[in-house]
Amino acid sequence: MPTSRPAHAPGTRVDRFAVVDPATGEPFAEAPDQSPGELDAVVGRAREAWRGWRTDPAARTTALLAAADAVEAAGADLAPLLTREQGKPLAESYGEVDRTAARLRHFADLVPGPQRISDGRPVRSEIRWRPLGPVAAIVPWNFPLQLASAKFAPALAAGNTVVLKPSPHTPLATRLLASVVSSVLPDDVLTVVTGHEPLGARLAAHPGIRHVTFTGSVPTGRAVARGAAATLSRVTLELGGNDAAILLDDVDVERIADRLFWAAFRNCGQVCMAVKRVYAPARLCSDVVEALAQRAKSAVVGAGLDPGTQLGPVNNAPQLARVESCTARALADGARAVAGGHRLDRPGYFYAPTILADVPPGSPVVTQEQFGPVLPVLPYDNVGEAVEAANSTGFGLGGSVWGTDLDRAEAVADRLECGTAWINHHAELSLAQPFAGVKDSGVGVAGGLWGLYGNLAPFVVHRPLEP
Ligand code: NAD
Repeated sequence: MPTSRPAHAPGTRVDRFAVVDPATGEPFAEAPDQSPGELDAVVGRAREAWRGWRTDPAARTTALLAAADAVEAAGADLAPLLTREQGKPLAESYGEVDRTAARLRHFADLVPGPQRISDGRPVRSEIRWRPLGPVAAIVPWNFPLQLASAKFAPALAAGNTVVLKPSPHTPLATRLLASVVSSVLPDDVLTVVTGHEPLGARLAAHPGIRHVTFTGSVPTGRAVARGAAATLSRVTLELGGNDAAILLDDVDVERIADRLFWAAFRNCGQVCMAVKRVYAPARLCSDVVEALAQRAKSAVVGAGLDPGTQLGPVNNAPQLARVESCTARALADGARAVAGGHRLDRPGYFYAPTILADVPPGSPVVTQEQFGPVLPVLPYDNVGEAVEAANSTGFGLGGSVWGTDLDRAEAVADRLECGTAWINHHAELSLAQPFAGVKDSGVGVAGGLWGLYGNLAPFVVHRPLEP
């Protein structure tokens, strides 16, 4: 069975950096801080490994199905480690492991075979989809395993090799995942590199890379695109969101309140496509605020490894500072914290689930991405106003509309400028669907067959029908 090699030469000293447990605020482990030389070596080996990996789709299918089994079998090691470094409740970490295995299975045999095309002329034209080469996959800290697999599963299935860079806030479970997956793949087909910047910038601009697939914030996405422009490698960017939920005047507030609350607060609000602002008809607004505030006050906040925890800590100190500052600014602007509005008085990066009312529409907690357990609820007088407000930011990831008349809700959803719209729920995705933000929320498409095509190039052969 092939073994995964370390990214450094045996016997050389490797710098390391500390990984912090967000439930305590204390370091609990270390990861390698890899040098530019090590990165060059990893990309070089990924290029070599590509020669073999690209040739045999059936062998890839077998390997990826075996990888899915191996990931499932390693769940009891992966999930607690993920919770320790990321903070999320253990059950949600198991959910990431399951989704990773499901993704490997979904993509394992999805690669399209040759396709004939015709414009009516007497020529046989055939498209054969070819892999691109080594792919750089750069991911954030909110869903380390799921987002890593959303990149490497289609990239590997397509016949590319992958160099994966997790966030320095969450390197550990990703390293373990890659060693589990690599245990059933040829050497150097999937490699993880870890470290602080400029590691990601170097990877994005590396001349040995042919596709950079990045998930993260809008400013970093712009930097990645600039870096990749130097080598003209393909770029897929899945960036931030500021999704609005519009409640219509026929909404049954009690019926939807749990779903709406968790669509905003799951993973402590650190979800690209979380509900980040709610627009409610003015006459229902106080009922909506009250229903959400009740749930915010009763949600069980604690360490992800503690049984019963529903909401973990914010993942890292800079993100906590961001949540605190945008909430403080909203309160200074005249908003009311009907629930929360403060850090919890305990070690670690805990913030009380917060519902904000009376928020000025121009406050940064409304116009920017808070990415934390804070939700502003804004009143509107007519639906057109709510749609305009929902579409008024630079983001365009997702949005939702909530009401009893589903056709009417869908007609309103159709007016949202975003990549995915939901009716009466939010942030649920099928493995088979395309996922793509518009405006500042992304470039290119992930997910399903469309995500696979992002990892393939069309090679077209024309031949005449007669010699
Ligand atoms: P981030 O942009 O700070 O970092 C993302 C990744 O890029 C990390 O691995 C980071 O180390 C790396 N990085 C940092 N600077 C870099 C550079 N100059 N060049 C290359 N790589 C660099 O984002 P974050 O704080 O880790 O994650 C939160 C953001 O991710 C939010 O904006 C969230 O909405 C977004 N996100 C989007 C999606 C989506 O599918 N659209 C999914 C999850 C998260």
